[in-house]
Amino acid sequence: MSERTYKSDALILYHRNLGEADRLVTLLTWEKGKITAVARGARKVKSRLAGGVDLFTYGRYQFHRGRSLDLITGQEVREHFSAFREDAALYPYGLFLSEITGKLIESEEPSPEPCALLLEGWRLLCGGERPDPVLFCCAFELKMMALAGFCPYLEGCLQCGSAEAFLFSPRRGGLFCERCAESGTLSLGAGTAALARRLLEAPLDRVKLLRSSPRQRRELTEAAASFRRYHLQIDKLRSLQLLSSLNLSG
Ligand SMILES: [Zn+2]
Repeated sequence: MSERTYKSDALILYHRNLGEADRLVTLLTWEKGKITAVARGARKVKSRLAGGVDLFTYGRYQFHRGRSLDLITGQEVREHFSAFREDAALYPYGLFLSEITGKLIESEEPSPEPCALLLEGWRLLCGGERPDPVLFCCAFELKMMALAGFCPYLEGCLQCGSAEAFLFSPRRGGLFCERCAESGTLSLGAGTAALARRLLEAPLDRVKLLRSSPRQRRELTEAAASFRRYHLQIDKLRSLQLLSSLNLSG
């Protein structure tokens, strides 16, 4: 391999068309974090790269360092999560995992833990015994936030430490008790705050064992959305737009 060539295991986060036949692909790589690279001719049917740079693909890729953007010059697909493409109800949830990962992991540092979490997330969502997707996405987002250093504080009141803390402040990124609460908090039921802690702590493959009410899921998704808006300036995700149009988000 020349000095300008390197290889990494990677997950395809998203892509868009470039020129007549190329694709601009964003990958999360184990060795170099999030990178964007060009797959030349990937939209031609006979391209060697076609298929390997589709969404929800895990593989080993070879890159050539370019002046501005790197090129994908080789690939070896390990897993294709085709269930996301075949099941329209599942697709937005798979896309949500990719989008939230891409927003949270920005650096070009080695990212083995985020990669492992996303790969496990795709596997579990496509697996035989599927978890409740709303709860699963909440758990995934909390865990990815923890890896990225953005996780809200859920252990008790941010001010006094009281365990009776059920008011969530998107701005401060944590819970408050009634005595310490500032304005702009969202009221969570006691069960919702406890559920959020369990979602953060439980291994991803155990999330399917957790039970929740529609109200708890609604409170969690609202708190997550406001936290995302405030701290990550994320207002719109394609996956969430799809979910609201499918009306599956609650
Ligand atoms: Zn307090």
